Amino acid sequence: MAFNLHETLAAMGHEQLVICNDAVSGLRALIALHSTKLGPAIGGTRFWQYAREEEAVIDVLRLSRGMTYKNALADLPFGGGKAVIIGDQQTKEREPIFRALGRFVERLGGCFITAEDVGTSVTDMEYVRAETSHVAGLAQRSGDPSPWTARGVFRALQAAAQHRWQSPDLSGKIVALQGCGNVGYHLARELHQAGAKLTISDFHAERVQQAVREFDASAVAPEKIHEIEADVFAPCALGGGLNDQTIPLLHTQIVVGAANNQLLQDRHGDMLRDRGITYVPDYLANAGGVINGCRELLGWELTQSQQKIEEIFNTALAVLALAEAEGIAANRAADRIAERRFVDA
Ligand code: NAD
Repeated sequence: MAFNLHETLAAMGHEQLVICNDAVSGLRALIALHSTKLGPAIGGTRFWQYAREEEAVIDVLRLSRGMTYKNALADLPFGGGKAVIIGDQQTKEREPIFRALGRFVERLGGCFITAEDVGTSVTDMEYVRAETSHVAGLAQRSGDPSPWTARGVFRALQAAAQHRWQSPDLSGKIVALQGCGNVGYHLARELHQAGAKLTISDFHAERVQQAVREFDASAVAPEKIHEIEADVFAPCALGGGLNDQTIPLLHTQIVVGAANNQLLQDRHGDMLRDRGITYVPDYLANAGGVINGCRELLGWELTQSQQKIEEIFNTALAVLALAEAEGIAANRAADRIAERRFVDA
């Protein structure tokens, strides 16, 4: 491995990295526990064909750290963790793989609780459930988190609009939406209902066509989405999309989306600020799914989790106000509030 693993863990503040190998199912996975200070580390399981093992390590470390910040900022009694399975996420042989993962989760004795993420489904989590109780997002319980994540992103977007335009009203605003998957689709529906005009890109043509049909959206090629003249850019695909190449291309006043780890590096938050773009940090905006999971994990009523998701509006306003008052980027302001909670715990 080109980088020093222990130095990386120390620099990012991780507690543990578990390397999982199951010869029978062929499972190759990593489970990262970033922090258990506020409670058990929770985070989804991503299934992805990583080109190199080092990419999977970096992904699981970044994603698990993001979960610590997300849970702390949302004021939930959880730490941050994540699992990644390395392999073909389209495989039909899912039960042995997810049951093997479930056995590894069980061995962690409740320090890690998992759920769906990119490349995994509610059905996959039912297989995990056959081996461990430390899993959420099950069909008969809190279910698919995506509509709730989308609702939170929508509330964060309204807060950015309030901060930028002194009104949360999104009617007539042009939104360039990157990625129309589970969350992107539900966000498109919310935005359409709010009167926004959508331009959508996705590698899956049928997803784009569905949005064009149902939400009166226009389509654009994935490589062109950053260049659209829009009021809002909403990254709802994969991480690292805001970087040295894409940020100079943006013609937008606001960036808010669902994708985890949108900024390739923290300094890209400074770059957005220097360009005068209002940015709501990813882990603040996309906390709706994990908040919905509290129905299953903490026995919350639906109304309680819904109310907490609506509060993302106020948290986003507070972070944007702090960033402005301190003259810092919004991602640094959010980190400051979150760190105060989990470092002091
Ligand atoms: P998904 O896999 O259902 O959707 C992602 C979509 O993005 C896919 O349709 C894919 O084809 C498309 N895509 C990938 N790269 C693209 C590119 N460069 N340009 C255009 N389209 C591209 O995943 P999802 O569940 O909707 O999650 C989306 C993002 O939100 C991920 O980063 C995920 O980690 C994050 N997130 C999801 C949830 C949730 O509840 N599902 C919660 C928090 C964060």
